[in-house]
Amino acid sequence: MFQSARLKLTLWYVLISVLISAIFSVILFFVSHRELERSYRRIAVFQSVESQFGINLPPPPGPNPENLEIAENRVIKNLAYANLFVLILSAMTGYIFAGEALKPIKKMVDEQNQFIADASHELRTPLTSMKTAIEVNLRDKNLDTKSAKEILENNLSDIDSMKRLSDNLLLLTQFEKNVVKPLMQKVSLKEIIEEAAKKVQYLANEKNISLKTAVPKNYIVGDKEKLIQLFVIFLDNAIKYSFKGGKIYVNSEKKDGTLAVEIKDNGIGISQKDLPYIFNSFYRGDKSRSKELVDGFGLGLSIAKKIIHLHHAKVSVKSIPKKGTTFTLVFNAEK
Ligand code: ADP
Repeated sequence: MFQSARLKLTLWYVLISVLISAIFSVILFFVSHRELERSYRRIAVFQSVESQFGINLPPPPGPNPENLEIAENRVIKNLAYANLFVLILSAMTGYIFAGEALKPIKKMVDEQNQFIADASHELRTPLTSMKTAIEVNLRDKNLDTKSAKEILENNLSDIDSMKRLSDNLLLLTQFEKNVVKPLMQKVSLKEIIEEAAKKVQYLANEKNISLKTAVPKNYIVGDKEKLIQLFVIFLDNAIKYSFKGGKIYVNSEKKDGTLAVEIKDNGIGISQKDLPYIFNSFYRGDKSRSKELVDGFGLGLSIAKKIIHLHHAKVSVKSIPKKGTTFTLVFNAEK
C-alpha cells in the first residue's frame, strides 16, 4: 500500500518538476530566439550599409545569419538535455522525498492498526468465553436453575468488562480526535484528590490497604471531572498492584509556581524493562501476571496521559520491583 502511495507521490513530484522546467525552457527558448533574431537583423542592416556605400566596416558581434537556424537547433537540443536531466533528478529525489514524507503517516497507520488489533483481541476474549459457556450449557440436558443463574452472572461480569473496555476505547478516540472540550476553571487539588480517594476507598478496604492523603488546599486550573478521573486511575492502579495490607500515600508540594503531587505505593513495582511502555495503549506489565491476577486492559495510563496533556502537566515515575511505585504529577499552580 505504501509502495504504491510512494510511487504516486513520486509521479506527482516528477510531473510538477517537469512542468516547471518545461515552462522555463519555453520562455528561455523565446528569449534566446528574440536575441538571435535581433543579432540577425543588426547584421542584415550592417550588410546593406556596406553594399550601399561600398565601405568595409568591421563585423558586429553576434552570429552569422546563416548560422541562425543551427544556433536555434542547438538551443532546443540543450534545453531538451536539461529537461531530461531535470526528469531523472526529480524522479530520484522525488522517490527519496516521498519515502521520507510518508514515514510519519506510515507510523500513524501502523499504530492505528495495532490499536484496532489489540482492541479486537481484548473484546474477543470475553466473547469467546461467553460463547463457550453458553454452548456447553445449552447441550447439558440436566441444567438446573442454580447453574443457569451462575452462567448468567458470569456472562454479566463479562458484559460489564466489555462495556468498560468500550467506554475506555471511546474516551481514547475522543481524545485522539480532539473532541474532548475540557471545562477549565480554578479548582482545589485537595478536593479533587479527596473525591478520587472516596471513589476507590471500597477497593482499598477489600484488600485492607491504608489510603492516606495529605494535600494542602492549593489551586490549579483544570477540568474537575477529568482530574478526578485522572487520580482515580492512579489510585486504582496503586490498589490493584499493591499487596494485601499495603500502604498508599498521596501528598503534594508547591514549589516555584508548580504543584507536584506524589502517589506512592509499596506494591509489586514495575520492572525496568516495562517502565518505558506503561503509558502505551494496551501495554500491561509482565504479561505472565496479567488478567488472571489483576484485572485491566492496559488503557488506564494512556487515558491518564491524555488528561495530563490536556492540563499541560508532566508525569514521571520511579519504581522498584517488589518495593513500590511513585508517580509524580507536576501542574502549574494557581494563586
Ligand atoms: P492496566 O492497569 O489495566 O493494566 P494501565 O494502563 O493502568 O493498565 O497500566 C499499565 C501497566 O502499568 C500495568 O499493567 C502495570 O504493569 C503498570 N502499573 C501501573 N501502575 C502501577 C503501580 N502503581 N504499580 C505497579 N505497576 C503499575
